Amino acid sequence: MCKEVNRRNRLPVDDYVQGVLKRNRAIFAQTITLVESNSSADMETAQAVLKQLHPYTGKSIRIGITGVPGVGKSTFIEGFGSLLCERGHRVAVLAIDPSSTITRGSILGDKTRMENLSKNPNAFIRPSASGGMLGGVARKTRETIFVCEAAGFDVILVETVGVGQSEVTVRSMVDFFLLLQITGAGDELQGMKKGVMELVDAILINKADGVNKQKALIAQSEYNGILHYLQPATKGWETKAYTCSSLTGEGLDEVWSMIQLFHKKTNESGVFSKRRQKQNLDWLHYMVEDYLRMNFYTHPKVTKVLPQIEQAVTEGTLSATMAANELVRNRNQ
Ligand code: GDP
Repeated sequence: MCKEVNRRNRLPVDDYVQGVLKRNRAIFAQTITLVESNSSADMETAQAVLKQLHPYTGKSIRIGITGVPGVGKSTFIEGFGSLLCERGHRVAVLAIDPSSTITRGSILGDKTRMENLSKNPNAFIRPSASGGMLGGVARKTRETIFVCEAAGFDVILVETVGVGQSEVTVRSMVDFFLLLQITGAGDELQGMKKGVMELVDAILINKADGVNKQKALIAQSEYNGILHYLQPATKGWETKAYTCSSLTGEGLDEVWSMIQLFHKKTNESGVFSKRRQKQNLDWLHYMVEDYLRMNFYTHPKVTKVLPQIEQAVTEGTLSATMAANELVRNRNQ
């Protein structure tokens, strides 16, 4: 029933394209709903829309933001996004929330978030797409980025939490990746995963205010000490630690200056466009693999024998390799 209602509301492809390009807010939001839809008819329309929007995409800086719940991501985005809007930028905030695919609950979306920014006419906030695997959510977010860019958003913030593969996924679609941290009882470095530190372009120690300010400065120099020995995420850019208070706004300006410097440097060196090219190529391969996987597992010759073969592997009467060979042989017969 839901699908029928959706279909009745669908527009011709050109109406979506023109609406997005003319920055019609209602049509823009409807286009994102279309891109997020799982119905095959919608997917086809969405691809036709995206094809026409393609020449208008790419002109933004895409910034990923990660950090554990409570670190202050929403407060940071509220303050940082508002500052950018004041400076004349148009800011889109998207999210990748793996919890919405695993538990159907949501780590990022349950509270009222970014109240001021959500009212700003130059900002757009979209909660994480849900349903399906992380790969499906990632595809929707990537395509939503394109729609936002075509609608003139020049700063795209993609927020996530460090659950499973979500940080790697966000890294694969952004130009700059920011890790938010807070100071603990002196042991803040212990729980820190080296892997994440090597994915990010900056570590931002939030809540550097009041009695916490001094501790944040100490943590900053500790992080810098460690970062010095790690592989930087971006060629020609040194990942460093910074401090800010998202609550008072102190340090947010410096964060933007730092990101602008990153943008300038990586543009000049060619690293910026090389990364985007590589991201597109990786994505192409991922999509092909995804298509092949789907095509394989939904093929009648496979679905017919799969339960028995899985059973045999579970019971140990057939090795996984032999089972795979048999499935492929069946599919190709
Ligand atoms: P999220 O779960 O990462 O999105 O974190 P929130 O933005 O919801 O923040 C969690 C709590 O930390 C809230 O009570 C915020 O008011 C508080 N908080 C966020 N940023 C700061 C900050 O810079 N300073 C202080 N003192 N509190 C902050």
